[in-house]
Amino acid sequence: MSLLDIYLLDAPILREVTRPVGEVTEDLRRLAKDMFDTMYAAKGIGLAAPQVGRHERLFVVDVEGAKHVLINPEILAAEGSDVGEEGCLSIPDVYGDVERATRVLMRALDLDGKVFELEAKDLLARCLQHELDHLNGKLFIDYLSLLKRRSAIAKYRKTHGEERPISRKIVAAEAAEHHHRDEEF
Ligand code: ZN
Repeated sequence: MSLLDIYLLDAPILREVTRPVGEVTEDLRRLAKDMFDTMYAAKGIGLAAPQVGRHERLFVVDVEGAKHVLINPEILAAEGSDVGEEGCLSIPDVYGDVERATRVLMRALDLDGKVFELEAKDLLARCLQHELDHLNGKLFIDYLSLLKRRSAIAKYRKTHGEERPISRKIVAAEAAEHHHRDEEF
């Protein structure tokens, strides 16, 4: 099992747009496996490649047993809207209400390079939209009002200090003690 470092709010890579995957290679399959391991250790339900310092257009999710790897994902349809609380493994200790579509239909490649469609609702739909945003350099705090965004960033900086790092190590033992929140993607 290999756990990857998770990049944090101040890391420039979180603001970069990822590159479409040309071919699903063994390296990419290993990356997806390491991302699942890292996500589980960090007690998250989704993790996107930029969060572990990679530029590939890929993310993993595991929401209530619905476990998926999405490569080059795109939204085909979205409907409904609902406001719900979100957090992010790249912005520890910060939460905010975000309006998302309640149902989405996405198309992506799987780890065999085959096209598949995924229909999702509620928390899985929210998670998919949050992760897709990561691939476009967007974070959930971008949806908050200016005031709420400012206070979220201020809280993050205060909690993590002046000398805060741009990435954090995920270790299995520490993860077990980490306070679990279902809303962290
Ligand atoms: Zn996130």
